[in-house]
Amino acid sequence: MSTKTSYWSPIVGELDPYVPGEQPKIDRLVKLNTNENPYPPSPKAIAAIQAAAAGRLELYPDPDASLVRDAVAKYHGIGAEQIFVGNGSDEVLAHAFFAFFQHAGRSLVMPDITYSFYTVYCGLYGIPYSVVPLRDDMQVDIGALTDPARVAQAAGIIVANPNAPTGIELPLADIERLLQAYPEQVVLVDEAYVDFGGTSAIGLVSRYPNLLVVHTLSKSRSLAGLRVGFAVGQPHLIEGLERVKNSFNSYPVDRLASAGAAAAYEDVDYFEQSRQAVMRTRDELTVSLQALGFEVLPSKTNFVFARHPGHDAAGLLAGLRAEGVLVRHFKKPRISQYLRISIGTPEQCTRLVDVLRGILG
Ligand SMILES: *Cc1c(COP(=O)(O)O)cnc(C)c1O
Repeated sequence: MSTKTSYWSPIVGELDPYVPGEQPKIDRLVKLNTNENPYPPSPKAIAAIQAAAAGRLELYPDPDASLVRDAVAKYHGIGAEQIFVGNGSDEVLAHAFFAFFQHAGRSLVMPDITYSFYTVYCGLYGIPYSVVPLRDDMQVDIGALTDPARVAQAAGIIVANPNAPTGIELPLADIERLLQAYPEQVVLVDEAYVDFGGTSAIGLVSRYPNLLVVHTLSKSRSLAGLRVGFAVGQPHLIEGLERVKNSFNSYPVDRLASAGAAAAYEDVDYFEQSRQAVMRTRDELTVSLQALGFEVLPSKTNFVFARHPGHDAAGLLAGLRAEGVLVRHFKKPRISQYLRISIGTPEQCTRLVDVLRGILG
């Protein structure tokens, strides 16, 4: 007899899907759990989306997302042929895993503590992976990652830089060590948070045929709701991504998303203002949390990763939640005592600190 799940392809039961942070329907909550930007997108982006909505939605969008590629190319001073655009960077990452990391008998290398979607894609595509523990100070262990024995077995390597959820940045010199240690494999650098004080590896793309850098408009451009991300690499890598995309969905970026994303890249002043505001608040929040006794890892992102030596993280999470403040907690070895706190407005962060002060007594 068939059961309800026997209709599934067998692999579906084996998947371990990513669980996004809660998106509650209640408005009054202080939502510091999914690393969204607390500020709205550029008014020019909103105007461009409205104009696109009044435009020709009966027509398919441009399959090459040229508007976005041109705007990103201009901003970064690179060629449009070095850019691949997708429906959020998660989709760009998924296509990159399919395009570059499926090599029989080899494993994808990544740090043990990193963006948890990476192992989810490995499960989806049947890619084995091997994890390299972060050092005790939560820094990425470049020595272990570049161990020749590990490189010899590698299908590729992926790092988030700055890393998530630690927030810690790897210097560009270390990214170059990876690029040189893995000349035969793609080195994927996920720079979702780079605009909050990090240094991008995009400048290295012309020198390294194995480098793919992935960006998102969800964090520093305040467009999580629009779903746009992109990859930068030499044209042979971009072509690999396009082959996968055109075997999956030819039109991943719709007309509204294209218009809004391009306009967001053109509004450099707004971008500078909002990212500086987030970085300022982050540095103030770090000081306030330290004053409450938290250990806060040095963050180059729009979140902080912090633990309190005297208080259990799950308890703090529940106490905050009871007061309407949402933060993120990962029930994983090594990081189960940390809270990941997204940077909100100064008012939201003040509220967080006040509630924490009450809980800590
Ligand atoms: C948020 C995030 C993404 C996903 O971004 P989207 O473009 O919204 O899909 C990818 N990588 C990391 C490390 C992230 O934190």
